[in-house]
Amino acid sequence: MSKLRVKNSSDKITVQNVYCIGKNYLEHIKEFDAPEKSTELPKEPIIFLKPNSAVLTNSNIVRIPKFKGKKISDNLQNEIELVVVIGKDGVNIPETEAMDYVYGYAVGIDFTLRDIQTELKIKGLPWTLSKGFLTSAPVSEIVRKEDISNVENLNICLKINRETKQSANTSAMIFKISYIIYYLSSVFGLKKGDIIFTGTPAGITKLNTSDKIEAEIENIGKLNVVVE
Ligand code: MG
Repeated sequence: MSKLRVKNSSDKITVQNVYCIGKNYLEHIKEFDAPEKSTELPKEPIIFLKPNSAVLTNSNIVRIPKFKGKKISDNLQNEIELVVVIGKDGVNIPETEAMDYVYGYAVGIDFTLRDIQTELKIKGLPWTLSKGFLTSAPVSEIVRKEDISNVENLNICLKINRETKQSANTSAMIFKISYIIYYLSSVFGLKKGDIIFTGTPAGITKLNTSDKIEAEIENIGKLNVVVE
């Protein structure tokens, strides 16, 4: 299982389930092309999973997988996201107690093979191939929640080759962290070591080989990744 380092500590967190929230920033909902172009807000959080093996902790290289000698996609895209790390098990966690279940926060990138995702959506098939491939979920070291006083008001920014492509604030999230924990714990139950990617703001971009990606969330940290 993947392990995440904790800032200023020798502790490590063993990652369990990797939950992801889709369409949690309005400006990102608006940037999709047809056929899913929409300004309609989801009524409840949109949930998908990545396999544990997608979490990238000991390397900074993202790559499109090959099958039978050929890359399976030609449209890799970036999605910077605030990652919430769960610190204790819970089922049916009330929204008012949700933050007690948080261990800390990290910077993550939900890499996406957009051409595959679009095709799977059109066909009504699961997105897993486009979201769960090896190296698709780099995560920074974790900052303990005690060190973050304003998690719902942090600047979130991603640069490609030093050019800003994503720039927003976590205050723009449609579903807040406490509600996401309430929802996930009611449906799936949450475990210590589960991590939650909380959705990306606008600015998704097609990446090229050798692109250097710098992802940063104010007060939490930075994540540098290179496209191979
Ligand atoms: Mg995402």
